[in-house]
Amino acid sequence: MHIFSQDDASARAGAWLTVSLKAIANNYDLVAGLGAGAECAAVVKADAYGLGAAQVAQALAGRGAGTFFVAHLDEGIALRAVLPQARIFVLHGFMPGCEGSMAAHGLIPVLNSLDQVRSWKRFCEQAGQAFPAALQFDSGMSRFGLSIEDLAERALFNGLNLQLVMSHLACADMPDSSANEMQRQRFVTMAAAFPGVPRSLAASSGIFLGPDYHFELIRPGAALYGIAPSEGRRVLAPVVSLDARIAQIRTIQAGDRVGYGLSWTAPKATRVATLGLGYADGFFRAQAGQASVWYGRTRLPVIGRVSMDSISVDMTEAPADLKAGDVLSVLGPQQDVDALARSAGTIGYEVLTALGSRFHRVYVPAG
Ligand SMILES: *Cc1c(COP(=O)(O)O)cnc(C)c1O
Repeated sequence: MHIFSQDDASARAGAWLTVSLKAIANNYDLVAGLGAGAECAAVVKADAYGLGAAQVAQALAGRGAGTFFVAHLDEGIALRAVLPQARIFVLHGFMPGCEGSMAAHGLIPVLNSLDQVRSWKRFCEQAGQAFPAALQFDSGMSRFGLSIEDLAERALFNGLNLQLVMSHLACADMPDSSANEMQRQRFVTMAAAFPGVPRSLAASSGIFLGPDYHFELIRPGAALYGIAPSEGRRVLAPVVSLDARIAQIRTIQAGDRVGYGLSWTAPKATRVATLGLGYADGFFRAQAGQASVWYGRTRLPVIGRVSMDSISVDMTEAPADLKAGDVLSVLGPQQDVDALARSAGTIGYEVLTALGSRFHRVYVPAG
């Protein structure tokens, strides 16, 4: 007799996140096709938007991606361990004094300021080797990058081993915004100071603005992970699904109330299911009263407040025989990350990157 069961993680899990590396790889192919002629890099910062940088990057390298972007030096170091051959750019460059780690791991800093340019040059001179670097220009977003005035320091840029010049669009998800063309023109002007160096302007949404925005390298992140490039534009395959088991189910009476603050009152006798995921898992508390989960094609409203580890669901429309252990869909065919994001008043990017590390994860291989 086994007193201790031989259960596995998937049997223990109250909720599980399925990440389709196949869908991510297919999205990569689709986006790379749009940018035909331009190299298609892959942005895997923030642990590949929460989905697992190591798994995602390996799957994309398997599809032919050779260039990757991360935000931080430590993300680059971790990615280097997984992809010994890839070209890896670090968007934020480096903190003062960390040039050596950058070079030691074969990472390419994106130099965003004259100070970073000076430090990198000094480091390369001392090392006696022109390690590769990229330059970022501020073409209008006032976030990262060198200004037009900075570029007047012509001599400072001599001797840099430049792999890329780049900038970033502020309004690419709004195809009609005049800011896009304004930034594009500024970028062209600034890049002209570095003839022959490959140029990159477009992240996911920018790629969909058309070939004028592609230059020599495109750098999608969100599109790989199935996020729409602009409101309502559904061209990419969803890559995650999130399923949760009913942890407990009860019938409450008219007038009974639910959750912290007793903020929801049953108008009539109601079956209420408790699911084991909450704001600690990225199911935003701000979603209270807005969000739904699904049973097949049946929408089930989330009621009352979102707790740290649980949500409550109105089961009125669900089959009467559903019981603890049965599965409801949080992200799936009826509700993608963009839709869940809308119910929280945010964007798919935030939903994805917030999905917690507590879910049991299942990866569908890229094949
Ligand atoms: C995050 C980021 C990207 C990727 O953006 P998506 O909209 O996710 O495609 C590209 N370039 C820069 C500079 C970024 O910060």
